[in-house]
Amino acid sequence: MKAYENFYINGEWVRSEGTGTMDVIDSATEEVIGRVPEGSAADVDAAVAAAKAAFETWSQTPVDVRAKYLRDIGAALAGRYDDIVDVITSEVGSPKAFAQMVQAGLSLGEWETFAKLVEGYAFEEQVGNSLVVREPIGVVGAITPWNYPLYLIICKVVPALAAGCTVVLKPSEVTPLNAYILAEVLDEVGLPKGVFNLVVGTGPEVGAAISGHPDVDMVSFTGSGRAGAEVTKAAAPTAKRVGLELGGKSANVVLDDADPTAVAMGAVFGCYINSGQTCSALTRLLVPESRKQEYIDAVLEEASKVGLVDPKADEPDLFHNLGPLSSKAHQERVRSYIQKGIDEGATLALGGPEQPEGFEKGFYVKPTVFTDVTPDMTIAQEEIFGPVLSILTYTDDDDAVAIANGTVYGLAGAVQSADVERAKGIARRLRTGQVDVNGAPFNTEAPFGGYKQSGNTRERGRWGLEEFLETKSIQLPV
Ligand code: NAD
Repeated sequence: MKAYENFYINGEWVRSEGTGTMDVIDSATEEVIGRVPEGSAADVDAAVAAAKAAFETWSQTPVDVRAKYLRDIGAALAGRYDDIVDVITSEVGSPKAFAQMVQAGLSLGEWETFAKLVEGYAFEEQVGNSLVVREPIGVVGAITPWNYPLYLIICKVVPALAAGCTVVLKPSEVTPLNAYILAEVLDEVGLPKGVFNLVVGTGPEVGAAISGHPDVDMVSFTGSGRAGAEVTKAAAPTAKRVGLELGGKSANVVLDDADPTAVAMGAVFGCYINSGQTCSALTRLLVPESRKQEYIDAVLEEASKVGLVDPKADEPDLFHNLGPLSSKAHQERVRSYIQKGIDEGATLALGGPEQPEGFEKGFYVKPTVFTDVTPDMTIAQEEIFGPVLSILTYTDDDDAVAIANGTVYGLAGAVQSADVERAKGIARRLRTGQVDVNGAPFNTEAPFGGYKQSGNTRERGRWGLEEFLETKSIQLPV
């Protein structure tokens, strides 16, 4: 078991001011695999004071020096690849192959991406008699969830450091161990003290203390809409910038010229990715009424090939092996949504709410598909965050767009068609921050974020860097 007793504040490993501890649970074995201190508002005060003091120097550090730190950290983190994979396989429950390629793989790429980006970024421009300069916003409080725990930390910490900001990180209390690996690496690389600080604890205690803190200039939050609203309220009195990356209920729109076999694999993987614990998961499949049975048959055939696995087993197939969900509470939540789908009259075509056979231990949920789902049903409106696909039908393109846009969310979407131009036309009409056409690959340098109640910010690439910048106009004599 990995037991941590300290937080990382001002370049030192220091005892928490809080008295409690929190257990970290293995999602497959349900055993305690780690223990971390439960932080308090006093820990946040110490971390913010360190970050504020460090900002004076870090914000003035030349860009090439900051870029070199990023590259050194990326290299050192790559040296911890196996540790990252082990930890995420246990605390999230992601199967090893997925943890390697996606969870750890994505987490290593961003350091070089942002080093290059910041080196080439125009921090100043002349507008008439004004010099417009972009400057780091200050102390950033980063609050993150458990589903892609390290990558989502990195989507905040890397651009913030690149911009010249200092950081206080509160990772999810469900998956804090990967954040300790990151802090160890930052310490080893010798990042100046106070530039990065780690405090672990619950949302209502540590998250709220960060959100309301007068010396935190920006909160960058990824998580649920419920917690995002709490962060926003706590941040309001100090008028700090709040960047929110929230949930989704994304639609995969299948146009009537799409090939059913080509659609099926992306439809299933796009929904079940990371056992459905993905904010941008394509959880609603919209098929044309005129050809619905062909698409449903192809999707059910593909979904029935998906199985459950022990995350630590060597199963190289990324597409057909699902691990458990991250926690008992979350497993129960997902199972209650499946029951709700049945109760509201959708047809359970695959899976179901019971504990899967052969997996008596672990927070597993059966890969599930519902057909005959109507747009007003709970399973068509609310984020389930598990391996549950809802298939709906539409009459024509306008109806498809209306259904796709008919939730409070607007994070992602997809369009399938034999005609890419036709698909682009539909993509433009979706009120979401990203749309994939015909299973196009994820681009880590393109902006990512939500419309509507899916959020108000963009991460990744140049857009991700700019979230951490302020803008100043210096008027010069003419
Ligand atoms: P969550 O909202 O429960 O927790 C996220 C973080 O917020 C955790 O660190 C938690 O401790 C903290 N928190 C909770 N209450 C808080 C409060 N009152 N004040 C401050 N902080 C608080 O979310 P989760 O269950 O960890 O993650 C799942 C959610 O995250 C899903 O809704 C998912 O869609 C969303 N998500 C969004 C994105 C995106 O980029 N848009 C990415 C991943 C996950």
